[in-house]
Amino acid sequence: MYFCEMIFLKTREEIELLRESNRLVGMTLGEVSRHIRPGISTSALDRIAEDFIRSHGGVPGFLGYGGFPNTLCISINDEVVHGIPSSRLVEEGDIVSIDCGVVKNGFHGDSAYTFAVGEVSEEKWNLLRVTKECLYKGIEQAVAGMRIGDVSHAVQQHAESNGFSVVREMVGHGVGRDLHEDPQVPNYGKRGQGPKLNVGMVIAIEPMINAGKRYVVQLDDGWTIKTRDGLPSAHFEHTVAVAKGNADILSTFEFIDSKYQL
Ligand code: MG
Ligand code: MG
Repeated sequence: MYFCEMIFLKTREEIELLRESNRLVGMTLGEVSRHIRPGISTSALDRIAEDFIRSHGGVPGFLGYGGFPNTLCISINDEVVHGIPSSRLVEEGDIVSIDCGVVKNGFHGDSAYTFAVGEVSEEKWNLLRVTKECLYKGIEQAVAGMRIGDVSHAVQQHAESNGFSVVREMVGHGVGRDLHEDPQVPNYGKRGQGPKLNVGMVIAIEPMINAGKRYVVQLDDGWTIKTRDGLPSAHFEHTVAVAKGNADILSTFEFIDSKYQL
């Protein structure tokens, strides 16, 4: 899993540029949160995000990446990640993962949040809460001197101790001039294993947690990943800079409308 590593350490100046890109991602998620409601199409949300990013001096980071056709990945209920915006309407009771990327000043931002639209089931609510907690458990480990496996283990431990399962096929990643850099940041693993975390490393930590079994399938559209058992999945992501003592969280959920804060 941990071969062929080419980890680019970032300077302080580069980290400030990454902070700016990730802040714009956070502001975009905030803008989307003011529009997401039952009856809005996912393509309408996508357009809102693209306009917002461009009017703030950024470029959508996912649009055209590997051929992805849109600005946002929007994944509803049993969709895990990489859902393509469409005419599908958001419905009361849905959980909607919105993953957003931005490029600004040559550096990427990458962050995701799952929104509970209206009244959701208790199972979905718990899944969102635990997945978000998994993200912060992982971030707690993202300090200089620890290893990627410490982050991975913390996420897995929290998810599984709450009766949920961890998707294996997609992982977190380094972030910089490229959207996906080394190292890979799996959401499962063993303490003390994997690359060592050093000051200047910038990584996206992004637990993808399933209410049921961990297995996933890819749809014929070539992108959308769904749970095999049809049970819901949630996804939260921050881009963080590894530092001494505490990780420096570069993305932010502070702009997300209060009704969607967990
Ligand atoms: Mg993302
Ligand atoms: Mg990511």
